[in-house]
Amino acid sequence: MAKRQFKTESKKLLDMMINSIYTNREIFLRELISNASDACDKLYYRSLTDSTITLARGAYEIRLTPDKVAGTLTISDNGCGMTGEELEKNLGTIAKSGSFDFKRTEESGDVDIIGQFGVGFYSAFMVSQKIVVETRAWGSDEAWRWVSSGVDGYTVEPCDKAEVGTTITLYLKPDTADDKYSEYLDEYRLTSLVKKYSDYIRYPIRMLSVREELVEGTEDQYETITEDLTLNSMVPIWKRNRGDVTEEEYTAFYREKFYDWVAPAKVISQKSEGTATFEALLFIPAKAPFDYYSRDFEKGLQLYSSGVMIMEKCKELLPDYFSFVRGLVDSQDLTLNISRETLQHDRQLRVIAKAVEKKIVGELKKMLADEREQYEEFFRQFGVQLKYGVYSDYGVHADQLRDLLLFTSSFADGYVTLAEYVSRMKEGQSQIYFASGENVDLVRQLPQVQAVVSRGYEVLYLTDDVDEFALQMMRVYGDKGFSNVCTDTLDLASEEEKAFVKAENEKNEEILKYMKESIGEGVSAVRFTKSLGDHPVGLSTEGGLSLEMERVLSRVPGNEEGGPKAQTVLEISLTHPISAKVKELYVTDKEKLANYARLLWAQARLVSGLGLENPSEFATLLTSLMI
Ligand code: ADP
Ligand code: MG
Repeated sequence: MAKRQFKTESKKLLDMMINSIYTNREIFLRELISNASDACDKLYYRSLTDSTITLARGAYEIRLTPDKVAGTLTISDNGCGMTGEELEKNLGTIAKSGSFDFKRTEESGDVDIIGQFGVGFYSAFMVSQKIVVETRAWGSDEAWRWVSSGVDGYTVEPCDKAEVGTTITLYLKPDTADDKYSEYLDEYRLTSLVKKYSDYIRYPIRMLSVREELVEGTEDQYETITEDLTLNSMVPIWKRNRGDVTEEEYTAFYREKFYDWVAPAKVISQKSEGTATFEALLFIPAKAPFDYYSRDFEKGLQLYSSGVMIMEKCKELLPDYFSFVRGLVDSQDLTLNISRETLQHDRQLRVIAKAVEKKIVGELKKMLADEREQYEEFFRQFGVQLKYGVYSDYGVHADQLRDLLLFTSSFADGYVTLAEYVSRMKEGQSQIYFASGENVDLVRQLPQVQAVVSRGYEVLYLTDDVDEFALQMMRVYGDKGFSNVCTDTLDLASEEEKAFVKAENEKNEEILKYMKESIGEGVSAVRFTKSLGDHPVGLSTEGGLSLEMERVLSRVPGNEEGGPKAQTVLEISLTHPISAKVKELYVTDKEKLANYARLLWAQARLVSGLGLENPSEFATLLTSLMI
C-alpha cells in the first residue's frame, strides 16, 4: 500500500505536535471529542431535511474505550462519518482553522502556545505513536481505514465497519521517566478531563466502567461491576447560570469555539423571556482579529435552535457596528430547518437581534462607566467601528452610539467622552470645538488649535478618517453643535475684534487679492485674521468641506484624480509682524510680495500636514531669501 504524504503545512504542524514539549497535552481529548460532536451535529442537521436518516436525537453518542492491555484509547461516534475522499482531504490537509492558528504559532516562535488553540485532530499525535481512524459515511456502503505514525505519511485502505460513524484508536506513546502517557487509560483521569473540557457537549460521552467490588456479606469474594457511565452533564454552557460557570470555563469555550488565542475582554450572557425567548452568550474579543478591517471578515453569531446549531454565522443578528462581537444565540422559537432565505424575513429573529443589540449597548456603557481602562483598550481595537455606526444609515444609530464614543482632546492625554467635554464647557460656550488631521501631534500644533486652547477652550483632536463625517452626521450633541476650529464658522472673537478684522480686510482688499492671484488656483482667498495666536499663517476652509475631509475623500477609490475639493483660505495673522511686512511690500516691491505669498502658502500647508504642492519651487524661493 502506497504511503501518502501530508501537505507541507500539515507536516510542519504534525512535526510540532509529535515533538511537542507542551505540558498541556491533555487537550487532545477535547479536540477529538469536539470533532465527534461536530460529526453528530452534521448528521442530525441533515436528518431534519432527509427522512431516510432515522437516528433519533437521543441515539447519538460518543464513546471512550480505554484498553490498558493494548495501550490504546478509542474515541468513537455515530455521527456523519467520512467518505474515502473526505478522509483524505480532512486528515491529509490541515483544516482551515488550524492552519490559521499555525501561522500565528510560527510567527511567535513559541511552541508552548500550541495548546491554547483549537489545534484539531493532529493534537492526538502529542500522545500517540500511531493513530488508526476507521470511518463510514452516512449513505455509503464502504468503510475506510486511515493509519499514520506521524510525519512520514499515512495510508488509506478499505475496511469493514458495520455502523455509520468514526472510530479513532490512539496507540499511546510508551511511558518514559518524565512522561506518563498511560494516564489517558485511567478511568478517573478520563472522567475529569471530560468534565473539565467537554462537559457542555450536547451528546452523551459514555464510558464502560469496570471495577471489582467486595460481594456484600463476604470477606474475600469479589464481583465485577460494569456500569455504562455518562461523563458529561450535556448542559450547554449558555444554559447554565452565570454564577455557576467560572471565567476559565467561559474562556476555554470561547477559545475553542471562536479560534481566538487570548481570553475575551468581556463575556456577556443574556437570558430573555417574553416576546422572544432565547439565551445569548456573547464575547467581546480582546484584540481585533487580523482580518477584521478587511473585506474577508464576516460578522455574525452562531444560531442554535433548542441547543442544536443551525447556522454558523447568522449576520442578521448583529449590526455592522457590533460586527466584532462573537458568540451565539439559542432560541426555542426558531424552527430547526430554517433556511437562509426564510431567516431574513423571520420576525422573531429581528426581535432577538434588537434585544441582543440593546444588551451590547448596555454592557458597553457599563464597561465605560465601571472599567474605564478596559473600555479604552476596547475602543482602541474597535472604536472606529462605532464611529462608522454613527455615520452609517444617515445617522439613525447616532443617538444610541454617541455616548460610547471616545476622542483625544486638548484636556489631557488619553480619551474623553462627549459628555465629559460638555461637562467642562465654559459658560456661554455653545459649540464643541474640534480640529482634525493625520495624528494628534499634528493637530495639537495647528495655529488655530493653539489659539482656541489658549483662550481656555477644550478642543477634540480627530485623527480617524471617519471622525469628521460622524460628527457631521450627528450634527448636535444635546443642544451643542460641533465646530471645526479651522473653518470660517468659528466665531470666538469679541464684537470689537471682529469689527477691526473686518475693516482691515476691506482696507487691504487689493493686497489680499494680489496675493491670492500670485499663489494661483489652490487658494480660494487670502485673509487677515486674529485667530492664529502666535503663528504667522494658517489654513482655514470655507463651506462644508474641511481639509481633512478632502484628504479622506481623495483616497476613496475612483477619486484619485478629482474628488471634491475644500475651499482653502490662507490666513495671515494681524498680531504677527508679517502682516505689516506684507502691506509694506505691496508698496515697495510687488514682485517680492508675490514670492512671499507663495512661501507663506507653502508654510501654511506644511503646518497643516498637507505637504508642498511644488517642493522645488519652495526650495528655490527659500534659498533666494538667504543670499
Ligand atoms: P476542525 O475540527 O477545526 O475542522 P480538525 O483537525 O479537528 O479541524 O478536523 C479536521 C476535519 O476532519 C474536520 O473538519 C472534519 O471534517 C473531519 N473529522 C475529524 N474528526 C471527525 C469525526 N469524528 N467524524 C467526522 N469527521 C471528522
Ligand atoms: Mg476539530
